[in-house]
Amino acid sequence: AKELGRNNLQFYAAEMNARADNRLQLENRLRRALERGEYVLHYQPKLDLHSNAIFGVEALLRWESPELGLVSPLDFIPVLEETGLILPVGEWVLSSACRQAVAWQRMGLPLRVAVNLSARQFQQENLAGRIGEILRASGLPAKFLALEITESMVMANPGQVVDTLKQLKSMGISLAMDDFGTGYSSLAYLKNFPIDSLKIDRSFVNELPDNSKDAAIAKTIIALAHNLNLQVIAEGVEHRAQADFLRAHGCDAIQGYLVSRPVPAQQISALLQNSDFA
Ligand code: C2E
Ligand code: CA
Ligand code: CA
Ligand code: CA
Repeated sequence: AKELGRNNLQFYAAEMNARADNRLQLENRLRRALERGEYVLHYQPKLDLHSNAIFGVEALLRWESPELGLVSPLDFIPVLEETGLILPVGEWVLSSACRQAVAWQRMGLPLRVAVNLSARQFQQENLAGRIGEILRASGLPAKFLALEITESMVMANPGQVVDTLKQLKSMGISLAMDDFGTGYSSLAYLKNFPIDSLKIDRSFVNELPDNSKDAAIAKTIIALAHNLNLQVIAEGVEHRAQADFLRAHGCDAIQGYLVSRPVPAQQISALLQNSDFA
């Protein structure tokens, strides 16, 4: 059409308004969710391939919305980031995960809990100090906390990020580079960031062992990590054949549906008490 008619324009405006309304409604719901206790954490175990024991878990955020049901973080974390809500929610995640780790310790399960950090949290003033306070308040020793960071989140301000990472590391927290191989300048970051481990992204694990490119990439990341004295963990391991390949090539740990899906905290203790992995 050469020209939008008046009706079309009105329709367009109405649709834009409806979209803005939806978006506003979602933001309001996400804000209320924190006050109403609708956020929950699920935990996914990490299996050490040398000892065949579960040594830690990754905390993964879920939103149990009364209106929308269980919502995936992929659908709401971007909105939390854009609105800044990720700051209070991220602090809730950290303190809940630390408190849960203390509860597991009291049950005789000394699991290290890993928490994902967002770019926005990294831009926060005094992130290391805030995390120190959360650790103290929960009573969790720092060595039982790991933080997962991505390459993309650190690109914004590498200098400041390195300082913050050094502070966190000197507190005794362990640091993992998440989704390794999917971002930019991975090698420069490996050189400058005081990290302890690399997580091989699921996209390189999916088609193991048959895809020869993925096999070459996985082997190379494992060798690279070990040459730099880093631990290497593969994510998204769903099949025995993938785990066998990774073990044969010296990968230190795996995480994925083969071991367990992310589950509520109570199921982690049950899994550890009843499984061959413990
Ligand atoms: P991620 O950090 O890469 O987390 C791994 C994702 O892979 C999780 O998705 C997990 O459920 C999924 N996964 C684990 N094992 C398998 C497997 O064997 N096969 C397949 N197909 N998938 C597997 P989830 O829980 O939907 O989380 C998605 C992303 O949301 C996370 O990716 C992370 O970037 C972000 N996220 C989750 N929780 C938080 C949080 O508390 N804070 C922040 N900032 N981001 C979070
Ligand atoms: Ca992660
Ligand atoms: Ca990941
Ligand atoms: Ca990933």
